[in-house]
Amino acid sequence: MDAGARRAILEAADALRDDTVALLARLVRHRSVLGEEQSCLAEMESVYADLGLTPRRVAVDTEALAVHPGFSPPLIDYAGRDPVFAVHTPRERRGRTLLLQGHVDVVPEGAPDLWKTPPYEPSIRDQRMYGRGAADMKAGIAAYVTAFRALKEAGLQPAAELQMAAVIEEECTGNGALAVMEALPKPDACLIPEPGPGYPALYVAEVGVVWAWVTVTGRPAHVRDMQSGVNAIEVAMAIAARFKTYEAEMNRGERRHPAFAADNHPINVNLGTIEGGEWNSSVPTRARIGLRVGVMPGYSCRQTARDIEALVAEAVAGLNGARATVAFKGFMADGCTFPPDQPIARTVSALHAEITGEELRHYAAPGLTDARFYTLYQGTQSTCYGPDSDNIHGIDESVGLDSLHQVTRVLALTIAEWCGVERSA
Ligand SMILES: [Zn+2]
Repeated sequence: MDAGARRAILEAADALRDDTVALLARLVRHRSVLGEEQSCLAEMESVYADLGLTPRRVAVDTEALAVHPGFSPPLIDYAGRDPVFAVHTPRERRGRTLLLQGHVDVVPEGAPDLWKTPPYEPSIRDQRMYGRGAADMKAGIAAYVTAFRALKEAGLQPAAELQMAAVIEEECTGNGALAVMEALPKPDACLIPEPGPGYPALYVAEVGVVWAWVTVTGRPAHVRDMQSGVNAIEVAMAIAARFKTYEAEMNRGERRHPAFAADNHPINVNLGTIEGGEWNSSVPTRARIGLRVGVMPGYSCRQTARDIEALVAEAVAGLNGARATVAFKGFMADGCTFPPDQPIARTVSALHAEITGEELRHYAAPGLTDARFYTLYQGTQSTCYGPDSDNIHGIDESVGLDSLHQVTRVLALTIAEWCGVERSA
């Protein structure tokens, strides 16, 4: 790429800085939790249309996808929540194709009274934007949209197909990304601007995840005959406690994938939800807990599911009269690695170093992203690189606006360098 084009693209990205922040604020205002992504997806349709592209929808067809090894059993129906994508087509295809993807779904905000400002009213303090989804990962979406716009404002456009997608359910199944992957032609690379861990980072690995739901049935009794009953909630807590030993075992040094050598606790088991009981003066009949169990790359999610079943069976065996069943809904996902010497990773790293003057650090993520699909099932080089984040999935989630701007600049040059450029129509 010649120096003039490069300068023009960066100047355009700088001029669009406030627009990026405004777009991010627009996206954060949608409470796009599971099952409520519709309005944010519609917003993305208009964002793509504003770029001069034709937005399209992809149905998440569970019957067709169920046979795919990357499929996860869904929690709810997909009607009305189809992911959106748009494809830029060059006049003359000379470069490499690229997919830029982001998820519009966000995790629940938790206790809203703990937030300094309401979670869906974006607020800027000390050069950071606060709001649920601001960092994870609506900022990444705003960054790639502006990156593409910066080329256009500079009178250029990618000289290869550029696919842009806004998906759902990254936070619970990944089936939105799977549907998009199956619908679009295989790109030469996939880049997902997921947030970094608080410093600029390139994802080099991620764990897998299994979601398990354990339903315990006890034996009801009046509390005056408490000894004759079996307390389903207490049994559920005893089952959850067993996973502490499992977690410690899975984090042992010998089990650690080399990419996680520097991380002493990559595998986490989270007791995320609990419900049960009927009455304070009755021994509870039923309880259900929801667990999130991490999976080391190289160890399969299906084996993890069998481990979970065995652990639960073992835990209830010693408890007279209690029964437990395990259901798998939500993530059934393997871990994977994103080698830093892949061409797309090298392009991003070099441009980040050039623009910021700092080396991009490598990050092995103890959580997962949609990038696994492209790596594991499509053989497409992929990675994640996005703005710095704080408290994602927690209270007062925020993204750094300087970092967002730098990432936008890097993405703009990545598009230009990867796809090549031609004069825009
Ligand atoms: Zn995310």
